[in-house]
Amino acid sequence: MTTKSKAISAVKDGKTAKLATAKTADTPASRPMNDAKRLSFFQKLSEHIKEPVTELNYSSDFELLIAVMLSAQATDKSVNIATDKLFKVANTPQAILDLGLDGLKSYINSIGLYNSKAANVMKTCQDLLDKHGGQVPRTRAELEALAGVGRKTANVVLNTAFGEPVMAVDTHIFRVGNRTGLATGKTVLAVEKALMKRIPREFLVDAHHYLILHGRYTCMARSPKCGACVVFDECMFKDKEKWAEQGS
Ligand code: SF4
Repeated sequence: MTTKSKAISAVKDGKTAKLATAKTADTPASRPMNDAKRLSFFQKLSEHIKEPVTELNYSSDFELLIAVMLSAQATDKSVNIATDKLFKVANTPQAILDLGLDGLKSYINSIGLYNSKAANVMKTCQDLLDKHGGQVPRTRAELEALAGVGRKTANVVLNTAFGEPVMAVDTHIFRVGNRTGLATGKTVLAVEKALMKRIPREFLVDAHHYLILHGRYTCMARSPKCGACVVFDECMFKDKEKWAEQGS
């Protein structure tokens, strides 16, 4: 595994906080973003991104939890294709248990790591029935006690389902935080903690989705679209002019 793939793998694993071999970003920010620029950064993102919501399809807290569990190291699009069929036949813990392990796998076998994900989903469904009355729990400790639920998945559920001002750092947010100077750190946890301190309070609930969507569609890993970026002036990425000149 290359240094870069080790880093990406570590970022995608919500239970793995250390990025021992990772650089802080492909090219680190030249210096931290100051308070005024951070405020302006989020004001502009909020004007540009009208719907700061997940691209996973779901219609209940339970469906969201399962979709997020399935999304590790997979695209939202691939998860949606699978869950669109799965949730039509089973969208409660008992209904998924009734499918059985092989039955569940038949719906999600197009998603990476589906064997382990199916096993974790089955255990989680049983725990939800045994310990939580079939409901998705609302605390980090209870969420992280579920099979296959790490800090990142718990943060996504707490933020997206329950509106908690928490930050789930995925590969996009890790990159954007470091590259722009918004919140730098060598580990996922360090970036999460830096973001929690540095994001203006009024944007904290929606910041997770602003940053993911910005990273997914504009501040991409290999070819950031600096020339079309609404936060170009605020960004501290030292190569932004070069990327803008390239017409990205
Ligand atoms: S200017 Fe470039 S590096 Fe900075 S946030 Fe925008 S796309 Fe990302």
